Amino acid sequence: MAKVRLLPDHVANQIAAGEVIERPASVIKELVENSIDAGATRIEVEFRSGGTSLMRIEDNGCGMSHDDALLALERHATSKIQKVQDLDGLTTMGFRGEALPSIASVSRFQLQTRETDAESGTEVLIDGGKMVHVRDCGMPAGTRMTISKLFNTVPARRKFLKSKTTEAAHIVQCVRLYALAHPEIGFSLLDDGRSLFQSPACSSLKTRIAEIFGKQIANNLLEIDAEEDGLRLRGLIGKPSLSRSSRHEMLFFVNNRPVENKTLSYAVVESYYGHISKGRYPVAFLFLDMDPERVDVNVHPAKREIRFREEAKTRGFAVRTLLEALKAETESYQSIKPVEVRLPKNDVAEEVVEPIPETPAPRPRKAEAPLSKPKRRLVQESKTVESSPVEAKPEPVAPAARKAAVDAKPEVSSPQPKTEETESRNWSYLGWAQGEFATFDTGDGVVLLSVRAAEQRILYERMINDFADKSIRCQKLMLAQPLELDPVVSAILEESLDFFTRLGFEIAPFGRNFFRIEGTPTWLESEEAEEFVKEMLALLRQGSMSADKSDLAVELVAKQAIKKIRRPSSELSKGEIDTLLDKLFACDKPLTDPEGRPSLIEISSGEIDKRFQRRNRRKQDELF
Ligand code: ADP
Ligand code: MG
Repeated sequence: MAKVRLLPDHVANQIAAGEVIERPASVIKELVENSIDAGATRIEVEFRSGGTSLMRIEDNGCGMSHDDALLALERHATSKIQKVQDLDGLTTMGFRGEALPSIASVSRFQLQTRETDAESGTEVLIDGGKMVHVRDCGMPAGTRMTISKLFNTVPARRKFLKSKTTEAAHIVQCVRLYALAHPEIGFSLLDDGRSLFQSPACSSLKTRIAEIFGKQIANNLLEIDAEEDGLRLRGLIGKPSLSRSSRHEMLFFVNNRPVENKTLSYAVVESYYGHISKGRYPVAFLFLDMDPERVDVNVHPAKREIRFREEAKTRGFAVRTLLEALKAETESYQSIKPVEVRLPKNDVAEEVVEPIPETPAPRPRKAEAPLSKPKRRLVQESKTVESSPVEAKPEPVAPAARKAAVDAKPEVSSPQPKTEETESRNWSYLGWAQGEFATFDTGDGVVLLSVRAAEQRILYERMINDFADKSIRCQKLMLAQPLELDPVVSAILEESLDFFTRLGFEIAPFGRNFFRIEGTPTWLESEEAEEFVKEMLALLRQGSMSADKSDLAVELVAKQAIKKIRRPSSELSKGEIDTLLDKLFACDKPLTDPEGRPSLIEISSGEIDKRFQRRNRRKQDELF
C-alpha cells in the first residue's frame, strides 16, 4: 500500500480547477464576480477565439497590495470570510478562495493590480501554476487579469471545449447576466477587438436591457413587482407579442445573482401558456429576493443551479404574479385597440368603427387582411337549428353567452333594413375541407374556419362566464364515483370544495381521505371526472393555481377542459355550422382559440385578386 500523502498544492489546484473551471466562460464568471466584490464601477471584458487564446478582465475596484496579490493566489486565500459563521452573513459572490489559484494552475495567468493610494502596482505572472515573476508595474487603480493559453497544463480538457463560436456565446451570455444584475456598473465586452456591447452605468434595468438586447425587446416589456410572504419578485417580462425560439432570454436572478432554476423557468412558461404559441418562449428578466436561508445555493460549485426550500410556494407566487401582469396587459390591449373596419359599399350604408376583440397575437404574423366578422343571424333563427357537437351534451346556450351575443351585435350608425340586409350579410357555407375546416364565402373573401378552435373558444368563454355568474350547471351522476386521495391532497380538496362546487362539481367528503363525486359539470364526461379532479388538485398542490384567486384558477381549469375537444370526426351539418358560427361570434374573442391561435383564416378578395394577378376584379366587372 502506498503511504498517505498530502497532495502538492499545484495538483490540488488543478483538481479544483477541474471542478470550477469548466470552460472559458467559467473564468469570466469568477473574475467578473471578483471585480463586483471589489466594488468596481466599471468592468471591461475582452476575449479572443472564444476565450481559448486570451481573456482579459479589467476593473476600477479596490485593487490589491503587493502582499495581498501574492496571497490571493494561494489556495483558500480569501479576504471575504474568516470563520465559518461568516458564511451566514455573506454578501459577496465569492468566498472559497479557489478561483484565482485554480485558474492560474491551468493557464498562463497575469495579475496586475494597484490599490488607489499605492505608489505603484504589482504584476504577478504564473504559468501553469508555476510562478514566473513578481514585480512592480505601472497600472491605473484597480485590477487587470489576463489569461492566455487556457488549459495548457491539462490538454485533455481542451478537447472538451466546443467550437469557438459556442464558447464565445457562453462568455457573452455570462457577461450579459452580470451586466443585467448590476446596471450601476458600467460594462463593456469586446470579442477580438470588436465591441459586442458597451453600457455605461445606468439607473434602470430597462435602459440596460435596451443596451444589451436592443430597443425592440426593451420597448415591449411589462413591469413586475410583487411581494408575498417574504418573497419579492421584480423585473420585466415580455409582452405576449414578444416571443423567442429559445429560452435564452428567460433570465433569472435570486438575491441578485444569476441562477438557473427549473422552478422559475417552468413558472414562466406556464404563465404564458395560451399567450404564446407552442415551441416559442417568452422573454423574462426576473429578480426574486428572499431570505437566503430559503435557498440551497450549493447544488454545484461552478454552476448556477439553485433549489428553493419551498418549491411549490415559490412557483405559485411567481405564476400568480405573472398571470396578473399578463391579464392586465391583455385587458388594456383589448380596451385600447379599436380597429377600423371598412365594410364594402353594398353591405351597410355607412362605414362603422367596430372594435375587434382579439387576444394578442402569439407572434407577429405576416400581413393579414383585417378580419371582418360574419354578420350574425337574428338570434331566433338559431333556435330552429339542430344541436352542434358542442351542444351534444344537452345544455341550452348559457345566459351569459346569450347576453354576450346580444351585446356584441354590431352597432351600425344608420338604421338597418331588416331581413334581406341580414340575410345578405351572412356567410355562405361552401363546404368541408381537409377533414376539419368549414369554408365560407363572406362576400369580402373566403374564410377557413377551424371547427375545433371555434368549439374550444366557445366552451372556454362559456365556462368563464358561467363561473362568473355562478351558473355552471351540474349533472348528477347515476353512480357516485369514489375518490381516494393522499392526506395532503385531501386537505387541499376539503379547503377548496366551494371552488369545485362553483365549477359544477358535487363532491362530498366520505370518511378520512375519501370523497365521492356525485355530480359533474355538463361539459365533462362522467368517466373523466376523477382524472380531471385529480389534475386540478395537482395544480392546486403545486401552487400553480389557487382557489382563492378563483378567476385565474378557472382560466386554468377551462384550458384543461378544452383539451378534451378533438377535431370533428365527420363533416358538420349545415345547421350545426350555423349554430357554431352564432355561438362563436357571441364570444368576446371569436378570432382566436384560447391559446391565442387563429380560429379562422380569411383570404380577402384583394388577396385573391393579387394571387390571380388581377388588378381589381370588381372594378373591372363594373366597367364591362
Ligand atoms: P474568493 O473570491 O472566493 O475570495 P478568489 O480566488 O476569487 O476567491 O479571490 C481571492 C481573493 O483575491 C479575494 O478574496 C480578493 O481579496 C482578491 N481579489 C480577487 N480579485 C480581485 C479584484 N478584481 N480586485 C480586488 N481584489 C481581488
Ligand atoms: Mg472569487
